[in-house]
Amino acid sequence: MRRAILLSFALLAAAVGASQSYWINGPTWPSGVVPMQIELGASPALTDGCADWSCVASGAINRWNLFVGRIQLQAVENSAQTKGELNGRNDMFFAADMYGKAFGQDTLALTTWWYRNDKLVEADIGFNQGKKWDSYRGTTRPGAVYDLRRVALHELGHVLGLGHPNDHGQSVVAMMNGTIGNLDSLTVDDIAGIQELYGSPGSGTGGSTGGSSGAAINFPPRNETYEFRNWLESKYASTLGRPAGLSYSDVEGSVVWVQEYLRYRLNTCSHEQAVERVRIQIAGGGVPGVCGTPASASVVEFPPRDQTYGFRLQLEDFYRVDLARAAVKTSVDAEGDVVWIQEYLRYRLNGCTHAQSLDKVTQQIEGRGVPPVCK
Ligand SMILES: [Zn+2]
Repeated sequence: MRRAILLSFALLAAAVGASQSYWINGPTWPSGVVPMQIELGASPALTDGCADWSCVASGAINRWNLFVGRIQLQAVENSAQTKGELNGRNDMFFAADMYGKAFGQDTLALTTWWYRNDKLVEADIGFNQGKKWDSYRGTTRPGAVYDLRRVALHELGHVLGLGHPNDHGQSVVAMMNGTIGNLDSLTVDDIAGIQELYGSPGSGTGGSTGGSSGAAINFPPRNETYEFRNWLESKYASTLGRPAGLSYSDVEGSVVWVQEYLRYRLNTCSHEQAVERVRIQIAGGGVPGVCGTPASASVVEFPPRDQTYGFRLQLEDFYRVDLARAAVKTSVDAEGDVVWIQEYLRYRLNGCTHAQSLDKVTQQIEGRGVPPVCK
């Protein structure tokens, strides 16, 4: 190496300040794939159902990938490699110290990175093996049992080049703050930081925050969709005589979040990109931007219903497990919920008024065929 390789720990004073609230350390990865060797070994039974630590770490890796443009992290699951300073690989491991540097009493993990000419060349994550670990969502568990996924999300932010906003006078909701709490997902601030470095998915270049432009697809006011959903409730209960069942997502929740999911899908997000953006909203992380601007088409196409239904089932889990909500009664089962909200919105976005859309969904529910859209 002709130029000195510089070594940094996570708490290195930053060389470059950011104009917004996130904090950028300075060096970034060249465009392309950044493999992460997951060398975490066997796990106990994990609360979130992941089979092992490899599953947990790759989950965190893939969540960053949903938001970055010109690079992708690559999870190398159950890697047989071993850790080493400047060994040319990016290692994730449990250890008693970080290459001889002791973990502090309260330190859960440390990331060390090396760079040359402002380009990152290697970054390793050490998790403190003296702590108790599990993998779970939502509120931090009592008894100092830590969620490895959210700690990995934070350390991977260091791998990518972000620092702690709260170490630099910022007060924001961010996974990149230097202390771990109840927040278990990335936030709008984290996403803005990473997109300043690497661009947004689909943009292909750094320096763009991506998001919507004038041609983004807009949805009807939520109160009208809510009115539709209340009409659907009485239709199922009275006209169809359906018995009440239990749902963890209440009526308002399903209207708001199914509509948000579809708004992301119609503005070029994949299923996974849309699910995570809604998840961030539910967790209080702000409202992430859409993924791009759809090509103009005469008729707005919706995603396959099984994907929207898959989202709706995840929504049940968010409410039941993460938010610990009690179940509420509804006569509309989860499948009917998404199918008819999606149909209502499909008519609305294709030239139909609220009344016309109600009428056309009624015809479908009563088995009188699928009426055409209004344009
Ligand atoms: Zn940190």
